[in-house]
Amino acid sequence: MKINVDTHKCSGHARCFDAAPDVFDLDDSGYALPVTQGFDELPGAVRAAVAACPERAITVE
Ligand code: SF4
Repeated sequence: MKINVDTHKCSGHARCFDAAPDVFDLDDSGYALPVTQGFDELPGAVRAAVAACPERAITVE
């Protein structure tokens, strides 16, 4: 399982980081970077981050 952030959609709201700080980091401009990969199951915090992103920039493969 892999978490992706569409850099063209991400607008730097940081809601994903608020919801799942162990999974997302922010770059110097406040845009999201997924830092943890390879979950066997989707953690609840990641579901919350996906739902919280107003740009629908987060996808899970
Ligand atoms: S909540 Fe969405 S738009 Fe905001 S930083 Fe995270 S991925 Fe980007």
